[in-house]
Amino acid sequence: MIEYVPYSGEPGAHSPAVICDTCHKQIVGEGLAVWRIKLRVKDEPRQQTPLYTTHKRECEQALHSQLNGQYPLDENWIDFSEEIDVFLKQLSKNINRSPIDDPDGS
Ligand SMILES: [Zn+2]
Repeated sequence: MIEYVPYSGEPGAHSPAVICDTCHKQIVGEGLAVWRIKLRVKDEPRQQTPLYTTHKRECEQALHSQLNGQYPLDENWIDFSEEIDVFLKQLSKNINRSPIDDPDGS
């Protein structure tokens, strides 16, 4: 998730940061954006989980265990992830365009 966190220097000042959805500490450096999409059968509507952010390794594994309860892989949910820095660059780019209108899309 993204939260505003206080920073030193100016009392009461805050800045946005990516927070791990598992341990609730800020992700500095390596991290992932994680989500699952359900494989569609016939005309089922598209289903996607909320987007999660996590540290790699232990936090990532704990997040997958949590997701397995509500979005089990054996019920056609498929894992997706992106490096957090790549995800944020794409998100920032999409402020001014719609990816569906861009054949490159990345
Ligand atoms: Zn974490």
